[in-house]
Amino acid sequence: MKIINLAIIVFIFLGCVSVFPADSTDTEQEETAGCLSHGDGRITIIYPQDINLKKLEARLRSRYFSVSAAEKDLFTNAKYSIEDRILARLEAILLRVEQMLAMYPDHMEIKLRIFRTRQELSEEYSRQFGVSENYKSFYIHPLGTIYSSMQDITDSVISHEMAHAVIDNYFRVMPPDKTAELLATYVDSHLERE
Ligand SMILES: [Zn+2]
Repeated sequence: MKIINLAIIVFIFLGCVSVFPADSTDTEQEETAGCLSHGDGRITIIYPQDINLKKLEARLRSRYFSVSAAEKDLFTNAKYSIEDRILARLEAILLRVEQMLAMYPDHMEIKLRIFRTRQELSEEYSRQFGVSENYKSFYIHPLGTIYSSMQDITDSVISHEMAHAVIDNYFRVMPPDKTAELLATYVDSHLERE
């Protein structure tokens, strides 16, 4: 699912109201009201501080595809923090998606905003678009943000939304929605295959 036609965005974070004090500076791990963010520039995850990160990590490791030994170490080695392992796994999924599409956009930054439940995600969707939908996830290109919830997030869901992000960042002229959807669906259903 992707949304590119945004007239006005009223951006209120449900359960994670962002607070930016006048003297705030970007830090790698910034705590907002009820939310944490963790990122390395290319990917940033934003999540309620009470979610179970072990569960999130497991849900992002349900699919198998081959990666380099160095990449694998980054998302499996217990010497790294769980936040860094999750980030490394997301980075590996993003690389895989780029390889499958043979598209490597310059300067792409993706935010991944995670809600606790699909209900919370749907409330966020209606806050932004004024209509009710019941999606597991969606990607908003002008915000460079993928949205999902702990109820539905998996590496399959994320690879699909990352494919939308890669496609939308790669083309100067957007492909038709139907074409983008076909490509994104192809990516998430063929993640394992070489
Ligand atoms: Zn889609």
